[in-house]
Amino acid sequence: MGDHIVKITLAAILALSALGLGSTQAAAQDDPAPGSGDLDTVSIKSASGDTLSLQQKSTQTEALKITDGIYQATGFGNSFLVVTDEGNVVIDTSLPQNAAGHKKLLDAVSNKVPEYIIATHAHGDHVGGIPLWRGKDTQVIAQENSVEFLHYQKRLSGFFALRNSAQFGLDIARPDVGDAYPGNFEADIPATILFDDKYEFKLGGLTFVVESAPAETLDALTVWIPEKSTVFVGDLIYESFPNIYTLRGTKPRWALDYAQSIDDVLLLNAEIMIPSHGEAIKGTDAVREALTKYRDAILYVHDATVAGMNAGKDVHSLMEEIKLPPELALPEQYGTVKWTVRGIYDGYAGWFDGNPSSILSIKPNASNISLVKMAGGPDAVVTQAEALFGKGDDLSALSLAESVLSVDPKHKPAWAVRLKILQKLHKASANFNEAGWLGYGIRQSKKALAE
Ligand SMILES: [Zn+2]
Repeated sequence: MGDHIVKITLAAILALSALGLGSTQAAAQDDPAPGSGDLDTVSIKSASGDTLSLQQKSTQTEALKITDGIYQATGFGNSFLVVTDEGNVVIDTSLPQNAAGHKKLLDAVSNKVPEYIIATHAHGDHVGGIPLWRGKDTQVIAQENSVEFLHYQKRLSGFFALRNSAQFGLDIARPDVGDAYPGNFEADIPATILFDDKYEFKLGGLTFVVESAPAETLDALTVWIPEKSTVFVGDLIYESFPNIYTLRGTKPRWALDYAQSIDDVLLLNAEIMIPSHGEAIKGTDAVREALTKYRDAILYVHDATVAGMNAGKDVHSLMEEIKLPPELALPEQYGTVKWTVRGIYDGYAGWFDGNPSSILSIKPNASNISLVKMAGGPDAVVTQAEALFGKGDDLSALSLAESVLSVDPKHKPAWAVRLKILQKLHKASANFNEAGWLGYGIRQSKKALAE
């Protein structure tokens, strides 16, 4: 990775996506919040390094035939059409702004109103097109945890709007929704069929086994069509280490859920595995290999974190220590091992770090006023930050700049050195989420310097 063009493309994709992400609420036009949906997935180069798995403005002219009767419209969130003699099934519907294009491509294959729509989970890049696809008799199938998930997204829509606008580079004013109380249980629920563990139906000689497979979200599901030895896995696996902790903020995602859900898919011995981002994997060996490696990488990080917790180690030491062995290495363009270690640690233990001082509500920067003064004042500290930056110790330099800014938020030399450091880190970053937040820091610094 590290290809700057790819990175810019991705930033654009993510920015565009986040803008339109009101998921079902936006589509129902009762949620004015830009970016209030939960964007979560990845658009990255393949392991071979030469293809983008996702496209922002699709150049696709006809639907991709994955196998007989199964077609894909590719995008930020693929949409799938399964055609049978008795009617069609749509699996995932992409973002609202992609949905019309996807529908057009898939309508060219068969334009019947679908009998069923199945959402692999309630993220905006999977449910965005439901209103466009559904007819009055269409059944919409979702796992029952989607109800709380959609309520939770709506409940915190102001928070997510701010986080998404920062992370995806949307310099928008604080959205109106942030000042409003959105209600605790006010989301629109598109599903007509909700299930707990498993839901099965037959259509046109095909069996659709829809099964709970929690991972990114608790409502995640897989769709298994045994007659075609094909499984749709949503976002259970994609071409990066998973985003088990997401910087834009979300409830904990459980590593062991991923492992269990992947195990369940492995039992199917599928010949074709279709993820909702990226390309289908064909061949039982290739499917098994991809799933096994993914599961083992997740379990490795989980188990090492738990071992470290039991050994009394602190989260920061474990973030430094835990690395995937070469045979399990996955690209980290989206999720990272470090954030996952912290996500697992804090997911299990919460915010208290075992230091009695931490329960006394001492603010993180409380000592900086004294320390910066003792060090000779803000200018002296910035001089030291510059010196460290010159020696390549970017993180120590950044830490000093932040210390000064915590004491004096208008200290322009501190903003200037912070800007330089963040720009350097941004240029070197090969992770989209990290690059997004570094970009936010850069814009913040520039704004402070211009004031
Ligand atoms: Zn997704």
